[in-house]
Amino acid sequence: MIYLDNAASTQIHDDVLDAMLPYLKEQYGNPSSIHRYGRLAHKAIEKARKQIASLINANSSEIFLTSGGTESNNMALWGIASKKPSSKIITSSIEHDAILEPCKKLVKSGFDVLYLPVDNRGVVNLDTLKNSLSDDVCLVSIMFANNEMGTIEPIAKIAQLCNEQKIPFHTDAVQAVGKTPIDVKQLGIDLLSISSHKINGPKGVGALYIRDGIDIDPLILGGGQEHGLRSGTENVANIVGFGKACEIAKLHLVENISHMKKLRDILIAKIVNEIPYVTLNGDIENRLPNNAHFTFLGVTGEDLIIKLDEYGIAASTGSACSVHTQKASHVLQAMGFSHEQITGSLRLSLGVFNNEQQIDETVSILKKVTTELRSVSPFKEKYSF
Ligand code: PLP
Repeated sequence: MIYLDNAASTQIHDDVLDAMLPYLKEQYGNPSSIHRYGRLAHKAIEKARKQIASLINANSSEIFLTSGGTESNNMALWGIASKKPSSKIITSSIEHDAILEPCKKLVKSGFDVLYLPVDNRGVVNLDTLKNSLSDDVCLVSIMFANNEMGTIEPIAKIAQLCNEQKIPFHTDAVQAVGKTPIDVKQLGIDLLSISSHKINGPKGVGALYIRDGIDIDPLILGGGQEHGLRSGTENVANIVGFGKACEIAKLHLVENISHMKKLRDILIAKIVNEIPYVTLNGDIENRLPNNAHFTFLGVTGEDLIIKLDEYGIAASTGSACSVHTQKASHVLQAMGFSHEQITGSLRLSLGVFNNEQQIDETVSILKKVTTELRSVSPFKEKYSF
């Protein structure tokens, strides 16, 4: 198998699993208990909190553990919005559904939501943002990097605009963490969402960074864990694994980025040069080091994925979530893509465990399956394949 769907999820790192195992076996105490089992579990969580904080240069008191990126995004949006009823939220038209769906619900609860447009590379329009910042805006939430075509947004500039107006700024950094250096202090970010399973950690755990001084309401009420902001007995083993994954990601950040970038550039160059009627989508410069997103004219992304799977290659059209709803990508629509361009889209997302041989193999298999599919394509005459 060649796994090229690392934007959907990643392989757990061996050291992460090793760190987790004791907390699934003998160290099963509840972190809120006073006895030594409890104290050990509590200590393990606080160690993980430090490791997570260190990856984004936050204080550990600013890290709140959640069940993943989706919950972190919901916690940020609802937590800030409920402090200022009937106010306005600014987000972008290319966010993940974990932002867009809560926004839809917030509109039903009396909030006004503005969706910033993006250009054909997927970069948000800063002028529209600048002109829309006013006293009635309670939150700006713009993703750090897009999950479909990997465009990195101008986060420092967005944060600066929000900071000048004293409007809280949240960023969904689920795809960006571990793939680009992030310093929340230097960037001026107020809230940031992270997910463990995108960085070789376990699924079902994540965090919301909340800058000291930012006040939010809790989403989940109960026993008062996480300083009352997220009740529920902590998932100790997952949290320990998440912490370890962050520690490893920080330690190898520079080499991981250059490894993935090298593979990505080889992959892009070979595909674009060796397969006709293929275009690269997104921004070439401001792009995640692990993302390659293409349009293959005359074939559907779904057909490509099924064929690639037959040859042992795991790929995707973009957002894993849209597979269930069968809807056309809202991201590519917002970027002004035609129906044909959207239909033929393929995302290959790299991870730290991929190698150059896999890239070569992928390109030669892609050549083969594209020729096969195009030989029976209804667009055969149009493009003279
Ligand atoms: N935000 C983005 C940009 C994502 O890509 C994802 C997952 O694909 C999420 C949020 C949701 O994260 P999780 O799967 O941890 O809930």
